[in-house]
Amino acid sequence: MCRTRSDDSRIGSVSAASSGPTIDGQYANSAALRAPRRRSAGSISRGTSALSGRTARTLSESAMDGTPQLVFRRQNMSGSSGKQSQRAHALLAWYDRHRRVLPWRAPPGGRTDPYLVWLSEIMLQQTTVAAVGPYFAKFVARFPDVRALAAAPLDDVLHAWAGLGYYARARNLHKCAQAIVAQHGGKFPDDEATLLTLPGIGAYTAAAVAAIAFDKPAMPVDGNIERVVARLYAIETPLPAAKPQIRELARTLMPPARTGDFAQALMDLGATICTPTKPACALCPWMDICLARARGIAEELPRRAPKAERPVRHGVAFWAVRPDGRVALRRRVEQGLLGGMIEVPSTDWREATWSEPEAVATAPFQADWRALPGQVRHVFTHFELRLVVWTGRVQDDPRFLWASLDELSDHALPSVMNKVVRHALAQVGRAAPPMSPLRKRGPRAINKEAGVPLARGRQP
Ligand code: SF4
Repeated sequence: MCRTRSDDSRIGSVSAASSGPTIDGQYANSAALRAPRRRSAGSISRGTSALSGRTARTLSESAMDGTPQLVFRRQNMSGSSGKQSQRAHALLAWYDRHRRVLPWRAPPGGRTDPYLVWLSEIMLQQTTVAAVGPYFAKFVARFPDVRALAAAPLDDVLHAWAGLGYYARARNLHKCAQAIVAQHGGKFPDDEATLLTLPGIGAYTAAAVAAIAFDKPAMPVDGNIERVVARLYAIETPLPAAKPQIRELARTLMPPARTGDFAQALMDLGATICTPTKPACALCPWMDICLARARGIAEELPRRAPKAERPVRHGVAFWAVRPDGRVALRRRVEQGLLGGMIEVPSTDWREATWSEPEAVATAPFQADWRALPGQVRHVFTHFELRLVVWTGRVQDDPRFLWASLDELSDHALPSVMNKVVRHALAQVGRAAPPMSPLRKRGPRAINKEAGVPLARGRQP
């Protein structure tokens, strides 16, 4: 059950009798809510220092419905807004001392650039801060603002994105930049509703940009925030079923001011203190009000429903080499997975393995194909791909791009295709594949084993 603001009205009657540490003067004078302070040079310190002073707090649970409740016993603050302020103050005070320095984050008191916030949030979907860092720097150096990004050819954008995966995001990034220039004069909208109308901006990104870049009352809930809130309230419902409840609880935590800092503080708390394993509760500004810590189950939360096994798809990639040593590439269709990216031509990727005649019939060239030993494996979000690579000498065909081996890195090849390139080069080197004698064979599955025999290709 979600805890709402109205729930707070009945918390007092069931709070534990014992008194806890008290809250110091910084809550009474609202310093943390008024202005960010400079980050101290010191290392992370014990968060409980923020929870001492005049106002006592206790931790309890509702005796009426079992819903976890965080309870503050009021002395100098009143009602649910007082409790909310105490939590927010504790976290913001911690954030002001220990915030992470990130390339897209403005220094305390500095101006936040919505372009950098938006770009970082898109890049950070499905990957980590550490992984994004070098890509972000390269991307911003190449496209320093939204106008530069909008004016760039899509290929340049895809190329700068290569390695981050999920290329639909890069295409939408480009479309979004163009929409911001065309429809908003190059200025980011500052409200969630308008941000949501832009390509590639969903509920999370709209809330993140509105809160972080414009300090609007919005609460983006990423994996870090999800974990902190699930533990703070000891939410036992497994994810993803618990997501709506966690989102609602996160919203109730949000203070009336410094909403962007508050969201980033929650993110930082999850990334540095409330980590997936071995959370450093002794350093946490919320350690005294955290229900999961009190119950000794912090490391078990959030619970997750068992994952369905990832399905496997199979395909054949054709490493087709012209007499001058150039290799055939082509652009994938705009829609769908890796849309618009450059690829080594391949069959469809399907659940069934490909028999030799089937793959030959699908090959884009007539050639004496030779299957290279081994497979290329690549894990996408929803399936694992296993590609067998065939190589063959082919004649020129203007429908394809022809790249010398030195030019391959100039193309926006997605990670899976870079694996195909590496696999082919490791097997055949930089030389053109040798001509192979033909063999007549009946159909058989080709993806199940390494070392596939020769096959004669046909014109598609
Ligand atoms: S689990 Fe530990 S680190 Fe996480 S919110 Fe609770 S006290 Fe803080």
